[in-house]
Amino acid sequence: MPREILGKGLRFSLRHAPCAHICRYCLISESRKKSALPFSRFEALVHRFHDWRQAERPDLEIGVFVGPSFDYDMETLRGVGRLRERRGGKFRFVNLGGLRIRRDDELVDWIEERRALGIVGFHTSLAGCGEVHDRWNGRAGDFDYQTEILRLAGERGMARQEKLFLTKNTLPLFDRLLDILDALPGELHGRSASPFFYAGLASRYEDERLTEDDRDALPERINELRPGKFGNWLSEREWIPVMLESADKPRRLQLKLDVDETNIDYLERASCEEIFATRAREYQESYRDVPPLDELCARYGDPANRRVYQMSRDVEGRWLDMLHRETGAAKPID
Ligand code: SF4
Repeated sequence: MPREILGKGLRFSLRHAPCAHICRYCLISESRKKSALPFSRFEALVHRFHDWRQAERPDLEIGVFVGPSFDYDMETLRGVGRLRERRGGKFRFVNLGGLRIRRDDELVDWIEERRALGIVGFHTSLAGCGEVHDRWNGRAGDFDYQTEILRLAGERGMARQEKLFLTKNTLPLFDRLLDILDALPGELHGRSASPFFYAGLASRYEDERLTEDDRDALPERINELRPGKFGNWLSEREWIPVMLESADKPRRLQLKLDVDETNIDYLERASCEEIFATRAREYQESYRDVPPLDELCARYGDPANRRVYQMSRDVEGRWLDMLHRETGAAKPID
């Protein structure tokens, strides 16, 4: 019996703002592709699902991803803000990854426009500093560009959130990186460190993963950045018994739904129930050729692997890749 998939909600995704560069660790395929669908139709669709959820399915989660970069025009920025409010939150931080380069007055105006709209700060993802970061991010000068935006924003009273990637080649740079970031003006609203996920392009860099030994010898300055819930960073050999404990449990997932010009007419016509049920069926169907987790583990689990992963799904992703290579079985929707 394949694994049972339980949809705990829908996550609507729109390729609206392509990235201006391609990071080597990107989880998203084709980050330069852009849908021709106007944002307004996407927004209207998601509002309809919020109305449905409120009236009939309060148990479901409605998520949204408009990306892959946050290089939105002002109308999209307002629209994303309206959608965030439907979830009871506020759109307050703009991600810096993938932005096109702006300089001088154009850059200052870009920051000021966002501040005027209620954006309180910027979120940066950094993989080391200087040329190491630039290489991971596929753009010369990207580290300086991101820190310049953080500095300009900080001088204007805005805050920052930082996500710092830990790999074999960024670890030795961490002290320097933290010193640079600590010297920036503005409030530090959050800072965390983590290994790459095993997904997308990042799955090619297993040799860059920290090992149990690296993890256990991390200095306190880095250890304190491990995010609470996801800060364990177990190796495959440590994850295996944890995963086997719940191997027969259904997997609860937010079902991702890519919206674009090819399916919007159908999505606007169909009922919310039908769309949700169809997507749940497609997910379940995509697991048809995937053996149950304990069998997958028996075939591909490597109890000698001491490289560390943030989530069990990273380890499962490795097994699914091996299954795909060995049998040609399509990977399940993720
Ligand atoms: S900025 Fe983010 S979405 Fe864009 S290429 Fe880099 S990792 Fe991928």
